[in-house]
Formats: sequence, C-alpha cells, structure tokens
Amino acid sequence: MLETEKKHYQNTLSFAKQADAADPLARFREKFNLPKDENGNNLIYLCGNSLGLQPKKAREYVAEELNNWAELAVEGHFKAKTPWTTYHEILAKPMADIVGAKPGEVVIMNTLSTNLHLMMVSFYRPTAKRHKIVIESDAFPSDSYAVKSQIKEKGYNPDDSLLLWKPRPGEDLCRFEDLEALMQQHGEEIALVMIGNSNYYTGQKYPIKEITQLGHQYGCKVGFDLAHGVGNIDADLHDNGPDFAVWCTYKYLNSGPGALGGCFVHERHANNNDIPRFTGWWGHKMDSRFNMRVDFDPIEGAEGWQLSNPPILSMAPIRASLEIFAEAGFKNIRTKSKNITGYLEYLINDLNDDRIAILTPTNPDERGCQLSIQVKNADRSMHDGFMQAGIICDWREPDVIRVAPAPLYNSYEDVYEMIQRLKELLAKK
Ligand SMILES: *Cc1c(COP(=O)(O)O)cnc(C)c1O
Repeated sequence: MLETEKKHYQNTLSFAKQADAADPLARFREKFNLPKDENGNNLIYLCGNSLGLQPKKAREYVAEELNNWAELAVEGHFKAKTPWTTYHEILAKPMADIVGAKPGEVVIMNTLSTNLHLMMVSFYRPTAKRHKIVIESDAFPSDSYAVKSQIKEKGYNPDDSLLLWKPRPGEDLCRFEDLEALMQQHGEEIALVMIGNSNYYTGQKYPIKEITQLGHQYGCKVGFDLAHGVGNIDADLHDNGPDFAVWCTYKYLNSGPGALGGCFVHERHANNNDIPRFTGWWGHKMDSRFNMRVDFDPIEGAEGWQLSNPPILSMAPIRASLEIFAEAGFKNIRTKSKNITGYLEYLINDLNDDRIAILTPTNPDERGCQLSIQVKNADRSMHDGFMQAGIICDWREPDVIRVAPAPLYNSYEDVYEMIQRLKELLAKK
C-alpha cells in the first residue's frame, strides 16, 4: 500500500489483515520479542516512543561478549571476534544511515543528556552580546534542565538568556513563522537554537533544514535533540546541516532500557581542534592513545568527543537493533510509518466522536509515527482501561494518550484492535 492509496483505507478487520499481508516489512515483527500478559497472550504494544521492543538477537550478542570476557579477559579488546577497541566502529555506519549522516559524523557514546551537555560545552559559547538559547516551549524536562544549567554555568541567567518558541494562545503546535519572528527580533543575541525533534508531547516534527538555515542566517549554532526523531523521522543531518544532534537508542531504536546515546557533529567541525571541548582518552587518536604521556590529539570527527572506553555489554543490543534497520532500510520504514499512522488517524477520525482531538499535525511530513490523542474529560482511568484490555500505550497528564505504531514490529491489525478498545472505553464514559 502506498501513501497515495490512503483514500482506500477501510474500517474493517479484514482490511487491516490485508494491509498486513501486503506489508513488505511485516516479516520484521518476528525479529522482536513481543511482551505478553500473565496467560502468555501477546499484548498490543504501541509504546515504542518510550521503550522499543527487544530484538531477539540482542540476547545472543550480549551473551557473545559475556563469553569473550570470560574466556579472553583483557585480550578481548583485540582478540574478540568483534574486538572491543573498535566495537563502536561497526555501529557508526548503520547509525549514520538512519540519521542521514556520514559515518565520521556519528558516534555512539554516553547517554542523551550527557551528550547534550558535551555538545553545549562545545557549541554554546555565549558572549555578553550573544548569550541566548532558543528551545521549544514544550521541551522535554531534561533538555530544559540541561540548557538552563549551561546558561548558569557560563555566568548568565535563564530569565534573560532563555527564549521559548511557543504555540500561539489556543493552539498546540509551534509555527515556523513564529520562530522566524523570534529570530528577527533577537537573532543577534542568540548563541544557540536547540530544538527537540519530533516533539515528545505533540508528535510534531519540526523542519530541520529550515530551522538550521534560519539559525545560521543569524550567526547562531543549531542543534537538535532527536530522542523521538531517530529511527522515526528522516533527519538527513548531513545535508540539512545542523552543527550537532544528540539522541537515545532505547526509544525507536529498540536497544534496551537506558542504552547508550548517539551524537552527531557536522563534518564542517571535524578537524577544528580549536573548538573547546571536554576531553577524555577515548577521544584521542587511536595510534597514540596508549602512549599515555602525549598531549591530547583528537580523532577527526564525532569520535573526538568520546571520553571513556565504551560499555561493550550495552553496545551489543544496539548492534542487534541496527542490523534490523539496515536490513529493512530506513526509507521503507518511513514509508510504512506514514501508511500505518495514516491508518490510525483515519480510524480515529472515523469514530466521529467530538470528545477526541488529534494534537499531532495532519500532514505526514510534519510528524513521525506517533499520534497524540486528546480525550476531553478523560483521566488516568482511560489508560488503566487500555492496560486491562491488553493494550500498552502511554498517558501524559492531563488528558493525552500517545500512540506510536512502530513500523518494524506493529501491524495494521494492532492499530485496528487498539481503536476497537478505544471505542469500548468511550462508550463506557
Ligand atoms: C527520552 C528523552 C530524553 C531522555 O534523556 P536521557 O538522558 O536518555 O535519560 C531527553 N530528551 C528528550 C527530548 C527525550 O525524549
């Protein structure tokens, strides 16, 4: 089914089953462990925006490294089948493909909030004239804490130095023209534009290229937090040109709770050793890393921001996950994503219930797979009702259900079934 065939959607179980039968990515569902209830029945999992499912191969790859550790001990750094010293390198290419970057622009290290701080150490360099940061008003709490603490650490005050890109009164989404107006007014005072993409609450995808061009036009650095974007939207980081981006791998990238984060530094900064940065031995050039007594000489590109030798046991599940992405192809994933989320949207609209509103943009190019559904007068009991009916989705106060059909493991039938449960819950209210 193609995007253009959207008008052919039907509100029947048989349609959902046919769509699954025709889905070229349907076979990937088998590669994941689906969560089950206490009777061993599969639950319908629509919460990949929060924690992605476990690839079956993750266990094997973790076990392989536990065995290497047991059998080779320190020699595992060089003698393991995939030597630990270069383990992160096999992740760089598939990771770069997903975010549309060159391999040297991407590294997997630390966790998201840590990487965001490291990037701001390098790319938020305030001066008396230019000390402000712009974030979206509904930024994820961790991002907001991180930028405020960076502002304070550099001797400024968030009350003066933090600008919010806000939806207009009575609206839920941010308009690009309002960011343009904000830049026109304050552009010369802004050091960094840092946007979470796509927005964790509304599911809105912000235009990376346009925001980057706008920021650069005013001489600002531009960064993105792709926590909800990576593996979900087409970020095309190299061509779109932001200075940096950071993300986690446990949401749409299915790499396990608290798994390592990713970091992108644009090629234009690859060889600039004058950029201030926090440094550690793993960012030092490989050939002289173990000399121990030489001055810091960074690896070219994103790897030069590494601090520590990486946790191999945490990288092993990422390897399992990225293999699946490489096999499926991100373009195909994005195509199914638009189709399956389009189907979810169609079914919600077909409920014809004026208690329900979709906060997420209707244009598929302005969102990923998640739809944020606002239910008038609903409370947490709605979420509990879903749980009792075997549907896992997520609830945000005060009245929003976030539903994210993940194209690698969700089926059209999952989406259809979820809507049947929603219908039943609404009938009870
Ligand atoms: C999930 C998420 C985080 C989480 O940060 P961690 O450092 O991985 O705990 C941060 N920012 C955004 C926008 C998120 O969606």
